[in-house]
Amino acid sequence: MNPSSVWHPFTQHGRGEPIPLVTSASGALLHLADGSRVIDGISSWWVTTHGHCNPRIMQAIADQAGKLDQLIFAGWTHEPAETVAAGLRQIMPQSLTRVFFSDSGSTSVEVALKMALGYWHWRGEAQRSRILVMEHSYHGDTIGAMSVGERGVFNQPYTPLLFDVGRIPFPAQGGEQATYDALEAFCREGTTAALIVEPLVLGAGGMLFYAPEVLAEMRRICAAHGVLFIADEVMTGWGRTGTLIACEQAGIEPDILCLSKGLTGGAVPLAVTMASEPIFEAHWHAEDRARMFFHSSSYTANPLACAAAAENLAIWREEPVLERISALARKQADWIDKLGQVYHFDNPRTCGTIAALDIKVNDEGGYMSDVSPHLQAFFRERGVLLRPLGNTIYVMPPYCITDDELAEVWDAIGEAVIAF
Ligand SMILES: *Cc1c(COP(=O)(O)O)cnc(C)c1O
Repeated sequence: MNPSSVWHPFTQHGRGEPIPLVTSASGALLHLADGSRVIDGISSWWVTTHGHCNPRIMQAIADQAGKLDQLIFAGWTHEPAETVAAGLRQIMPQSLTRVFFSDSGSTSVEVALKMALGYWHWRGEAQRSRILVMEHSYHGDTIGAMSVGERGVFNQPYTPLLFDVGRIPFPAQGGEQATYDALEAFCREGTTAALIVEPLVLGAGGMLFYAPEVLAEMRRICAAHGVLFIADEVMTGWGRTGTLIACEQAGIEPDILCLSKGLTGGAVPLAVTMASEPIFEAHWHAEDRARMFFHSSSYTANPLACAAAAENLAIWREEPVLERISALARKQADWIDKLGQVYHFDNPRTCGTIAALDIKVNDEGGYMSDVSPHLQAFFRERGVLLRPLGNTIYVMPPYCITDDELAEVWDAIGEAVIAF
């Protein structure tokens, strides 16, 4: 039994699984209280991009801590926030002219949904209130974010609180037309406010990938009907799919873009929702205070978090981050090829730095597959942090992972494929 009072997320405490105590981390390594070390194969849940305790980001936080800790952001501003907004404007799609800060991926999604509804409301088209979503998608765990995500065991008790959405099928290879047709049909009804999608990779839905052309076509259909296009790049942003954001590969610009996770290099919580000028303008009025965007949280644009994000942006400008990413992407693809020649598993796939495969199981598979906790324990014993999504094993390491560390991760996966 764990004597701790801490209630952990996505954890069944009744199973009595050990909860390791981590005392420090650097690069791709976690150092445990018992003296052992673990390779972080999933970037501490997809956030850590340049590695743990990146010296530049740690220093930026320390410097900021000596100056300004926290500031009300309604009607006040500070340098780190201005630097982040200006930096994002330089590298994110040009049509996204406005930067709204919040604290997590989920809240960046809530903000995006509120912006979309606000836009139509203030344009006098309040009937456009439906949100379209893709099957198997995940956008966070707050009520609104759950509403636009896949329904299932994760949110079953909360169903009475979730709002209705329109669902389009996942564009499985060969089945893309069904996705387009469903999207087109919903758009034609004239009651749709926006489509929200995870560009190229559905993360929590099982590391499901689809092609850039599909993303481009969905964007085209939305534009043809004036439906807003929300790109949730909370996970795919900051190089995960091989480019700064996944939308780049489809040559598209969304109307609204959600970023979090790697925004601070994964060091501290921060998120932004970027919006196009028409969305900002719909909330703009010379006098009417009822029209402003009613959203805030206490720590909106916290200066320490913004200092970390500003340093992350500087790292992207000054260091060969994209080269590191393409080198890692190549290694990931090599490993999955190599493993595929020796062992038997299903659906090997890579997208940028993300590599995934499905192992064969006796139950139905899916997230609740019994194999998942056993796999986690198996990896933990081998000094590797991996957290399979059901029977889907994936590797999404920090970009600084060394060849030896990556080899240890994939060797452990090879052993797992035999053992399970
Ligand atoms: C993780 C994630 C979120 C939620 O972000 P949190 O910071 O955990 O609230 C939203 N969308 C996507 C695509 C994610 O992967």
